[in-house]
Amino acid sequence: AKKLGRNCYQFYQSSMNDAAQERLRIESALRSALERQEFVLHYQPQLDLAGGAIVGVEALLRWQHPELGMVAPQRFIGLAEETGLIVPIGAWVMRTACAQARAWMDAGLGPLRVAVNLSARQFAQRDLVQSVARVLADTGLPPHLLELELTESLFVDDVAQAVTLLHQLKALGVGLAIDDFGTGYSSLSYLRTFPIDVLKIDRSFVGQIAVDTDQAAIVISIIALAHNLQLKVIAEGVETAGQRDFLRAHGCDEVQGYFFSRPVPAGEVASLLPALLAG
Ligand code: C2E
Ligand code: CA
Ligand code: CA
Ligand code: CA
Repeated sequence: AKKLGRNCYQFYQSSMNDAAQERLRIESALRSALERQEFVLHYQPQLDLAGGAIVGVEALLRWQHPELGMVAPQRFIGLAEETGLIVPIGAWVMRTACAQARAWMDAGLGPLRVAVNLSARQFAQRDLVQSVARVLADTGLPPHLLELELTESLFVDDVAQAVTLLHQLKALGVGLAIDDFGTGYSSLSYLRTFPIDVLKIDRSFVGQIAVDTDQAAIVISIIALAHNLQLKVIAEGVETAGQRDFLRAHGCDEVQGYFFSRPVPAGEVASLLPALLAG
């Protein structure tokens, strides 16, 4: 038993070292990825459910690693967040997405709104509002074509500070969306206090609407709640015609999901623009 114990311990220790080394490796790789321009954005269409037109896209970060290939954000966002690297990476995302949206506008596509995910670290930056303003000015993107996606977790620390910040962002003319709505811990009272425009229903609810009456009831309630508060609702993770039909029947405003399109490189967005909803 003793031997087994020691072996287990050694195994545990060496896997800890592996994990620590892996972290260090990824951290320094993330650092150079920015310089080497290994990050790319893919864009996932957001459709107006009633009319069927693509009205916006969500910018989603990928890491085009020279050896690993296309790395999904789930594998590095957490570490980028912990190390603070998400701040310069996020700034790059914001600038690239806004420049791209402006380029689509200049090409006569759209108007296409672009949604950008904001991390907690970025939200805590003192110069967030100025940096967003600067990107809008530099790229020439009309502010209403930028939507910032925030999660409820950003609000729990300092509610008063968050309210101030959101009002300042709102004053720039950008749209504000609550991402992954329904999965956080914060109370619903912030919906009255915060100047937000959009609720995005998390895909964990959407995935079950056709088979789970409780999930269906939650989605119906979120749509009603949003509309009563004069907010728009976007459902994410729509994968089937059945889910789309359910959402349409219950008045959901916009949809996003693999059923319509996966996130695609910027160059492929134009080819998607003819009505996708027909499927
Ligand atoms: P999110 O903001 O909730 O983004 C939606 C995720 O759901 C995306 O994953 C998207 O590809 C995926 N998705 C879209 N439609 C479907 C569907 O029909 N079915 C399923 N199963 N999934 C669908 P992705 O691109 O891997 O991004 C994962 C998360 O990484 C994002 O979740 C967001 O939290 C984070 N993220 C991505 N880009 C950025 C970024 O630029 N900055 C920050 N801070 N976070 C980012
Ligand atoms: Ca999002
Ligand atoms: Ca989401
Ligand atoms: Ca999510």
